[in-house]
Amino acid sequence: MVKITIAGAAGGEVTGSSYIVETENAKVMVDAGMFQGGKAAEEKNRLPEDVDLQSIKALLLTHAHLDHTGRVPLALKNGYRNAIYATPATIDLTEIVLLDAAKIQEQDANRKNRDHPQMHAEPLYTPEDVAVFRSQCKQVLLHQPIPVAEGITAQFHEAGHILGSASIELTVEEKGTKKTIVFSGDLGPHELPLLRPFDQLPFADLVFMESTYGDRNHRSLYETLQEFEQIIQNSVDQKGKILIPAFAIGRTQQILYHLAILFFLKKIPPFPVFVDSPMAIEAGKVFTKYPDLFDEEAIEWKRQGVFPLDKSLFKFTTSVEESKQLNDLKGPCAIIAGSGMCTAGRIQHHLKFNLPVRTTNVVIAGYQSNGSLGRHLVDGDRQVKIHGETVDVRASIHTLNGLSAHAGQSDLLTWFSSLSKGKPKVCLTHGENPQREALASAIEKNFGLKPSLPELGDVVQL
Ligand SMILES: [Zn+2]
Repeated sequence: MVKITIAGAAGGEVTGSSYIVETENAKVMVDAGMFQGGKAAEEKNRLPEDVDLQSIKALLLTHAHLDHTGRVPLALKNGYRNAIYATPATIDLTEIVLLDAAKIQEQDANRKNRDHPQMHAEPLYTPEDVAVFRSQCKQVLLHQPIPVAEGITAQFHEAGHILGSASIELTVEEKGTKKTIVFSGDLGPHELPLLRPFDQLPFADLVFMESTYGDRNHRSLYETLQEFEQIIQNSVDQKGKILIPAFAIGRTQQILYHLAILFFLKKIPPFPVFVDSPMAIEAGKVFTKYPDLFDEEAIEWKRQGVFPLDKSLFKFTTSVEESKQLNDLKGPCAIIAGSGMCTAGRIQHHLKFNLPVRTTNVVIAGYQSNGSLGRHLVDGDRQVKIHGETVDVRASIHTLNGLSAHAGQSDLLTWFSSLSKGKPKVCLTHGENPQREALASAIEKNFGLKPSLPELGDVVQL
């Protein structure tokens, strides 16, 4: 009997992804993500209580995003000493993501202790806890089966979501029977620029599948880019600032890619673009390290000279001083800063300063979880709270879901179609309930299979 405990991104949540796979002989964990989006979510950032870390023989990571890796340092801090398996790009990016998370947690704890000394706030973990991460990593190449624990073999497949992202196929052997479990990880839209599209897998007995946008199809990339171009053109006309809250890993590089092409084709007049995120700058270096992960179109743009980026237009601000100077800058200009859901980081300062200004255009191009500042902006709130202060929103807020790094419903169904033939058990995770319910109905209608919608802590048996 194989048991899979769902330790995150369940019950209608999209963050905290984690699964524990247990056989009679071994236990492995797939992802150990952080819960994000408000206090209630953050309080869940613990390791599952009844799990003895020493009993976990391997930790496998689908991709570098914090909501899939953010609890890894907790495991390291608490004595996890076995291997962490991931693709080379995921290892590089995860190290950047975790160091940044550790620093943010330290800063938050310091701020809380300064404002409320009686609180004795402590960070979940520190950069020292992250320091051992790389030494425990083992690189995995796509499509190469690799034994990770007694009776458990893993194979990673392209997920087309961010650089290095993978779906993970586990083959579990117990008492002479073989079972295949597939974890989709986060899946990218088929037409996501820059990166190669996801692989489809041939067979599974059990599938855990993300459902972030299970209820809709995104606008086409073409229409989205037209809209993006129009927003930028309007901002240039108004001499306004364009603020783009972006996930440092993935979204920032996608946006830079589109801007670079628009400038190159002279579709918009040139203006300065500031990447105000040390983490995005580090991540950009990882992107240039793995050009073999790019799709053909990106390789062609590179050949034509769109990359490397024109340094006279694209500026990278690392220090806090440089970041503060952006307050005094006149438009048109664009500032890309994290965090993607506006819950932390430098974007909060830029929003505080520029949301009350009518000529500001905020372009929200990523998923915004319930309770996050980004979600309040998307929902049209005319006043928001930033660092405890009330800020009026006079800026224009634009949502560009077509730049999402997540597959929409029809791409999710395409990904699943190859697996459907083996009539697997299907569990939908990593989606709010309306989205995963919609995807469940679509799967039932198209393939005659009824997916289950697990809650946090549920155990699925195979
Ligand atoms: Zn992701």
